[in-house]
Amino acid sequence: MLNLVLFGPPGAGKGTQSQKLIEKYNLVHLSTGDILRSEITNGTELGLEAKKLMDQGVLVPDAVVIGMISNKLDSNKDARGFIFDGFPRTVAQAEALDALLASKSTQISGMIALDVEDEELQKRLLLRGKDSGRPDDANPEVIRRRIEEYNNKTAPVANFYKDQGKYHSVNGLGSIDEIFSAICNVADTL
Ligand code: ADP
Repeated sequence: MLNLVLFGPPGAGKGTQSQKLIEKYNLVHLSTGDILRSEITNGTELGLEAKKLMDQGVLVPDAVVIGMISNKLDSNKDARGFIFDGFPRTVAQAEALDALLASKSTQISGMIALDVEDEELQKRLLLRGKDSGRPDDANPEVIRRRIEEYNNKTAPVANFYKDQGKYHSVNGLGSIDEIFSAICNVADTL
C-alpha cells in the first residue's frame, strides 16, 4: 500500500495536490477537514460541536478525528492506499494513526511536507475566503489563530516522522504542476 501523509500549514495547497495524487496513484483521499464540513452540512451532533471550534480556528478534539479516520479505514478495506490530508495534526493523532495502520498490517509510507512561508499563506487564505464560503477563511483573526494552532500543535508532527526517517519536504511555491511533479518525485521513491 502507498499511504501518504500530505503535510503543511493551512493554505499550503494540500487539497489541490491531493486531488491530483488520488488520480495518479489511485488512492483514497481522507481529509479530516472535508469530513468535518460534511458532518456540519448534514447537521449531525458531531458537526454542531465541531463547527464551534472550527469557526474559531482551533483544533477539534483528537478522539473525534481519530474515530472518524478509524471508521474511514474500516469502510475502505480494498483501497490501494490513502492520502491523509489535514491529519494527523497533533502528535497524539500521529501515534493513534500508527496504531490503527499497524492493526491492519500496514503503515505510513512517508510524509510529504509542503513548504510555504506565513505571509504567502495569509494571502492565499484571504483570497480563498472570497469564494470558498468557508467562515474560517473569511476572518483574518481566525486565520491567524489557525496558523498559531499549526505552529504550536501541528508543526511537531513533522519531527514524529523525521524520527522514523519518513519525512520529505517539497517547495510549496510555484505552479500547481511544478509542485505536483516535485511531490511525485518523492512519492515514486516510497
Ligand atoms: P486548513 O488546513 O486549510 O485549515 P482543514 O479543512 O484541514 O483546513 O481544517 C479546517 C478546520 O477543521 C481546522 O481549523 C480544525 O478546526 C478542524 N480540523 C481538521 N482536521 C483536524 C484534525 N486532524 N484535528 C483537529 N482538528 C481538525
